[in-house]
Amino acid sequence: MFEIAIDRDACDGIFACLARDGRFVEDDDGLATIDPDAAGVVRVKRTDERVVALLEGDAEADEDAALAARACPPGAISVREVDA
Ligand code: SF4
Repeated sequence: MFEIAIDRDACDGIFACLARDGRFVEDDDGLATIDPDAAGVVRVKRTDERVVALLEGDAEADEDAALAARACPPGAISVREVDA
C-alpha cells in the first residue's frame, strides 16, 4: 500500500499533476485531489490542509504518482509507502 498526500496550502491549482496521473482531479475549491473512484484507490481523506489517499500497490512501482510529484511546481505532492 502507498499514500499520495497533497498539501492544500501549497497547491496553487496549476494542475500539472492532472496531466501526468489520471487519478488527480480538480476539487470544488479549484485545488487538486484524488478521485476516490479511480482504480486502486482505497480511500481519500480531505481536510482543510491536506488530501491523503491510500492506494493499493507499491510507491516505487507507481510511475504516474512519481511523475505528478516531480511535476508539481510548489512540491505539494508527496508519495510514500505505508503499512497495510
Ligand atoms: S501540480 Fe501541484 S500545485 Fe498544481 S494542482 Fe497539482 S498538486 Fe496543486
